[in-house]
Amino acid sequence: MTSISADTVIIGGGLHGGSAAVHLASRGVSCIVLEKDHVGRHASGVNAGGVRILGRALPEIPIARASRKLWHNIRDLVDDDCGFVPSGQVKVAETDDELAALQARSQQVQKLGFDHEEIIDQKTLRELLPAISDQCIGGMVVYGDGHANPYRTTRAFQRKAETLGVQFFEGVAATQIKRHAGLWQISTSRGLFEAPTLINCAGAWGGQVAEMLGERVPVKARAPMLMITARMAPFVKPVVGAQGRALSFKQFDNGTVLIGGGRFGKANIQLNEAQLDTAGLTANARAAISIFPIMQKATIVRCWAGIEGEMPDGIPIIGPSRQENAFHCFGFSAHGFQLAPAVGSIIADLVTTGASKLPIEPFRIDRF
Ligand SMILES: Cc1cc2nc3c(=O)[nH]c(=O)nc-3n(C[C@H](O)[C@H](O)[C@H](O)COP(=O)(O)OP(=O)(O)OC[C@H]3O[C@@H](n4cnc5c(N)ncnc54)[C@H](O)[C@@H]3O)c2cc1C
Repeated sequence: MTSISADTVIIGGGLHGGSAAVHLASRGVSCIVLEKDHVGRHASGVNAGGVRILGRALPEIPIARASRKLWHNIRDLVDDDCGFVPSGQVKVAETDDELAALQARSQQVQKLGFDHEEIIDQKTLRELLPAISDQCIGGMVVYGDGHANPYRTTRAFQRKAETLGVQFFEGVAATQIKRHAGLWQISTSRGLFEAPTLINCAGAWGGQVAEMLGERVPVKARAPMLMITARMAPFVKPVVGAQGRALSFKQFDNGTVLIGGGRFGKANIQLNEAQLDTAGLTANARAAISIFPIMQKATIVRCWAGIEGEMPDGIPIIGPSRQENAFHCFGFSAHGFQLAPAVGSIIADLVTTGASKLPIEPFRIDRF
């Protein structure tokens, strides 16, 4: 049987597959990307586009800061600004206890040597968010955070990778993986693909691909939900979250408002399906109205959910497989969009030098 070969086969055409491909190809490593559906079909193309360091899990901070640098110059990386807006992100506190919790968190982050999370009082909060409800007494802000357009970003990484010679095969599912004579042999719905190096960027399906390599991981598929309103007059610039509620909130330049954060529908990775949970959406809408009373006038025009891989400890798997020349990069637990530009560079470092310049020990697969 004839096979298609390259230096590296990447399984998964989401943003992480695309980012790994861009960084590898720009170092002269030839890549093939296999995508069972189409590029950006899943989490990478349908997410909230939040580019956030604020409130990151502590082990993720160095990678998130490296990624922030890349986001601020994203055109240099992929020849497209990806719709990135450095609007800042704010987490609001509605009670003294919530504000105290934000202060404690900010101090914890400062002790690690990072100064990006700033505590703000009610006056500064109102200056940043004039439409905020009176019950909000302060908050935390990261000025360099922002948001970008997820589908445009994922396609921009694909296009850049293609200009560097990467081949994307869409509608091609990896079904079996074997190691033979120093090569990974990947059986697919379109025949055999071969490469000395393999990268698992399969998102919520990352556990299935890991299992093909003989590695079991407890990744769960979840379905974070979002809804978007009809256009409203501009009233908020930064992305807003809340310490005491599940909420992520942003208004785009076109006036529409995106509401989400912490509410889940039902994901079925066998059927490729994410179903909405209306009770969760209602709770999200109520939270939005509490924080921004102007939202009482909003009309919701569309709701959706995406399929995302969630790890029990809420941080991804990034790093070498137990198998030779194979690497994992999945399970981003609903915050992998911001991390992707830097994680692709980490994967390229691992493949080309055997080591990462950023700390990835907490993300190793054998922690489970
Ligand atoms: C609704 C929602 C909102 C979110 N909001 C944010 C946010 O604001 N900020 C943030 O940072 N993150 C956010 N996230 C998380 C972020 O979208 C993900 O962490 C990130 O996109 C994961 O990218 P990925 O490439 O790992 O996965 P995916 O985009 O899921 O890509 C994996 C791809 O692998 C393919 N695949 C799987 N198995 C195979 C196989 N066997 N063969 C071939 N292809 C295969 C799949 O079809 C899929 O396209 C959100 C996620 C969702 C769903």
